[in-house]
Amino acid sequence: MALTIMEVYKILPKSNCKECGFPTCMAFAMQVTAMTKNLEDCPKISSEAQEKFSEASAAPMKLVKVGTGNNVFEFGQETVMFRHEKKFYNPCGIAVRIPASLSDEEMLKKIDKINKSEFFRVGKKLKVSLTAVEVDNCSQPDARARLASERSSVPLVLIGTNPSKMNLAVDAIKAKKPLIYKATPENIDSFIDIAAQAQVPLAICGNSLEETADLVDKARNKKIDQIALAFDSKNPAETIKNLTITRRAALTKNFRSFGYPAIVNIEEQDEEIQSALASAFAVKYAGIVIVDTTSPEALLPVLTAIGNIYTDPQVPNAVESKLYEIGSPNENSPVMFTTNFSLTYFSVAGEVERSKIPAYICVVDTEGLGVLNSYAGDKISVDKVVKTMKEQKVAEKVKHRKLIIPGLLAIFKGEIEDISEWKVIVGTENARGIPALLHQLKDKGTYDA
Ligand code: SF4
Repeated sequence: MALTIMEVYKILPKSNCKECGFPTCMAFAMQVTAMTKNLEDCPKISSEAQEKFSEASAAPMKLVKVGTGNNVFEFGQETVMFRHEKKFYNPCGIAVRIPASLSDEEMLKKIDKINKSEFFRVGKKLKVSLTAVEVDNCSQPDARARLASERSSVPLVLIGTNPSKMNLAVDAIKAKKPLIYKATPENIDSFIDIAAQAQVPLAICGNSLEETADLVDKARNKKIDQIALAFDSKNPAETIKNLTITRRAALTKNFRSFGYPAIVNIEEQDEEIQSALASAFAVKYAGIVIVDTTSPEALLPVLTAIGNIYTDPQVPNAVESKLYEIGSPNENSPVMFTTNFSLTYFSVAGEVERSKIPAYICVVDTEGLGVLNSYAGDKISVDKVVKTMKEQKVAEKVKHRKLIIPGLLAIFKGEIEDISEWKVIVGTENARGIPALLHQLKDKGTYDA
């Protein structure tokens, strides 16, 4: 049974010392019951109280860490089944597999690609989180793991089921805290020993959910608490069903044996299928997906799906309201306005960049709503646009007085011209049309001095 706020508060020292980062013990107690903090995050709590109550106050899903220092990937500690109930906390990571069949040289080339797998979308950096090295069919798994670890800029997963090979590989890089994938009914005792000795996280998989729960309990009894539930992609519908069952059991029934994040190993040749499966598993409810591909066309859709599902639905996805300079605009450069919804701003900014014509973008604060929604929701008006342009001193930046407005707000044209010095050019309804429009205006000499 989870503890109430008052029950947690009674356990705490009540000194309001703030060492936990919260102003009072009550505020900290609220975080514990909201499952965003654990009792052990209070440095002042007695070890007896911690031991007695940590199980009851623990988050229903453990936070699991792979790697060390600044190079750590964290997954788990989720608290809800559906994002709209609150939010999802620790985004699913993509691990890219290094097959044992690759030579060392080929492996290093693939790791270089993994290191460079970074994308920028809506102002955020998206990247591959882990390198997953197969060790079973390596003649020297220790040397293999060491070489991969030296080259990889992200933490490692070690894939294998052979205890002696895994032991050599883990021992070689245990200081880097790799995740072992995976303990099975056949190797569970040896793999528990390896994980316990090296103090590294362990992924566990039974032949059924009941068996997985038994194996997890076995590991917990040996004081291993950095555990992941391991799945594969042989039957995707079954995998999603099992991911959902284990998550629901942990979060709504507080079933401790499933109170760990999940990792899914996707073994498909086709890159598009890898991409589709990885996206589906990431959304429901994997914490790590292992794929083979390093192709940007396959990775970007997965990272986009992860980025979308892990945004906080209670926080507007907005950029700062200010005058943005795209390229190096001057006094004869185009001026346009848009709203501060991130996706809208970055779509407009991206298309201006694509046009290679430097321009100013005046971003109006619409509380994170896009163009049509802000108009429908009364978050944008002619007065607000004109006022924002004055506040951002747009007129001081350019000699001309020609303002491009979003095509969806063509209705603003007459009124802006009536109450300001700006002549309005009605732009396109879709950001995609911006480069053609800017080139047309340039060819017509619209901004010539
Ligand atoms: S560190 Fe512990 S004792 Fe200090 S304010 Fe936080 S909860 Fe209270």
